[in-house]
Amino acid sequence: MSYDVIVIGAGPAGYVAAIRCAQLGLKTVCVDAWQDRDGSPVPGGTCLNAGCIPSKALLESSEFYENIHRSGRHHGITVTRAVLDVPAMMQRKDEIVRDLTTGIAALFKANGVEWIAGHGQLQPDCHVQVTPHAGEATVIKAAQVILATGSAPVGIDAAPLQDDIIVDSSGALEWQSVPAHVGIIGAGVIGLELGSVWRRLGAEVTLLEAQDVFLAMVDQQIARTALRLFKQQGLNIHLDALVKSTQVVDGSVVLDYQDRNGKHPLKVDRLIVAVGRRPCTDGLASEEAELLLDEGGFIHVDADCRTSLPGVYAIGDAVRGPMLAHKGSEEGMAVAERIAGQSAEVNYDAIASVIYTQPEIAWVGKTEEALRGSGTAFNSGLFPFAASGRARAMQETDGMVKVLSDAATDRVLGVHIIGAHASELIAQAVIAMEFGSSSEDIARTVFAHPTLSEALHEAAMDVGGRAIHIAKARRT
Ligand code: FAD
Ligand code: AMP
Repeated sequence: MSYDVIVIGAGPAGYVAAIRCAQLGLKTVCVDAWQDRDGSPVPGGTCLNAGCIPSKALLESSEFYENIHRSGRHHGITVTRAVLDVPAMMQRKDEIVRDLTTGIAALFKANGVEWIAGHGQLQPDCHVQVTPHAGEATVIKAAQVILATGSAPVGIDAAPLQDDIIVDSSGALEWQSVPAHVGIIGAGVIGLELGSVWRRLGAEVTLLEAQDVFLAMVDQQIARTALRLFKQQGLNIHLDALVKSTQVVDGSVVLDYQDRNGKHPLKVDRLIVAVGRRPCTDGLASEEAELLLDEGGFIHVDADCRTSLPGVYAIGDAVRGPMLAHKGSEEGMAVAERIAGQSAEVNYDAIASVIYTQPEIAWVGKTEEALRGSGTAFNSGLFPFAASGRARAMQETDGMVKVLSDAATDRVLGVHIIGAHASELIAQAVIAMEFGSSSEDIARTVFAHPTLSEALHEAAMDVGGRAIHIAKARRT
């Protein structure tokens, strides 16, 4: 069979690329290997099946459960007993995933994208060998190929996965009851989100993080606030704690971790290994295809997502850049448009990152540490949610908005938020940065009152030393 475009991988990078190609009139096929628990093929990749969507479904459910106890009291509402039904919570999550993946299959059909279940392997000259889950391999070819094979959890020798006792992030989204004590190796984005879910549902949660800096990629003023708030919530977070060994004994996990004071034992009921993700590129291309990989197994691409091979592009988690669904989707659309002869660009400087904890953490652009490191002179403005009327009405006063702008031009270089709905608020900062705004542009924009967004407005005004609702002395 011959196509204009073959896409390998139907995650948020690949399925978006395939749909955009079809919209642009290209005859497109998407080959994907994902199978659900029953072995049925499903599109959507990690994001829909074992990542963004199921984790957010459980974060919402567990926050709802916790709020019944935590917030009710503040609002003058006492709930004497809330009954937790974990299997029902999991079923709700599974239904959301099923609805969304069915939706992608429907979008493929509506746009005329052919979808083939099976493993794709790139061969020379834009040929792809497709090995179905059952049956004989076939070879298809196209004028262009887009590789979008995503990523998978990294494993470590110190903690091999075992049944539902030592699990990766996928396993931790499937437990049907609340373990008494959950250990998590890695206090990164995924470890913190999964830890939050199980803590809110009643587990004691201990995170062991090898680095001695908490959330090193986050602006450290925000990270310090986060660490304080997470510890207050009851998350046990040990930094500088390298897990050396694990052993399953009578259904529990006994592990050893090393910190600057020596080796310590810890016993937990369940353990989540959340130490990062690696690109899925093993066996993706035949040796004859000679696809160039970078260190770490990422597919080598240029700024336009072109690989070392003519007509072959690569996008999403399998290539350099942040491992985020929206980054992969944007690359997918841009590559489709380039193939169709249009021009398209992805602005890697304005891609937001979010950690969906409570409060949420969201940022775009440079941190204070990065600006100092590069010797860039900047001004900073800060506004705490404690001074926001809406945040007070919501009983969500933790956190702040911080705006960093170039000292010479006032162009916004970074916005960092920790607080309720930070994941939504950050979009305003992304738009501002995409449009090359100055902090004064934001400061002179009219924001509705009372809203959490006003904290961004005030932080931008604070860059110029003219925030209204906070006295200068109280800013830090
Ligand atoms: P994937 O989604 O991994 O999809 C790749 C697809 O390719 C898969 O279906 C795979 O089976 C298939 N495939 C691989 N190799 C082959 C082959 N040779 N042949 C055929 N098919 C193949 N990101 C966010 O932006 N926001 C979040 O809130 C968020 N939360 C997350 C929570 C968790 C628990 C996890 C694990 C990840 C989360 N992520 C989040 C990251 C996000 O899931 C990834 O960035 C995103 O899925 C990457 O998209 P992708 O299309 O590149 O790859
Ligand atoms: P992320 O890359 O955001 O998913 O975070 C993964 C985290 O796991 C990183 O901060 C790593 O430092 C941490 N990590 C990796 N290996 C270990 C280990 N053996 N013990 C504890 N933490 C680890």
